[in-house]
Amino acid sequence: MELYKKINLHSHTFRCKHAQGNVADYIEEGIRNGMQVLGISDHTPFPEPRDTGIRMELEELPEYISEIESAQKKYQNIRILKSLECDYTKEFISFYKEMKENYHLDYLIGSVLFFL
Ligand SMILES: [Zn+2]
Repeated sequence: MELYKKINLHSHTFRCKHAQGNVADYIEEGIRNGMQVLGISDHTPFPEPRDTGIRMELEELPEYISEIESAQKKYQNIRILKSLECDYTKEFISFYKEMKENYHLDYLIGSVLFFL
């Protein structure tokens, strides 16, 4: 079993509206810094227009996923994981599970934020 020493499982692209850069920008910076595993984990879109200031829109999700999957094929010297950060709210749990299945996500990050 390979032991990874430089891992980052929490990173956001521009789609989260509180970060900059796209998937390739994070990967290339990670490679420059000797990163072995990088998880891309933008905030999950909500299934309804709510608290949109810190997350991608639902329509952006397919492009986000395909950007990560293309990068997984392109960059062979770093392990890239496909993820989403899920802001805890009881009514969206099944939506989150559905997304994990549908998009074959490697993991989900759970977070607790205040929003209305
Ligand atoms: Zn985050």
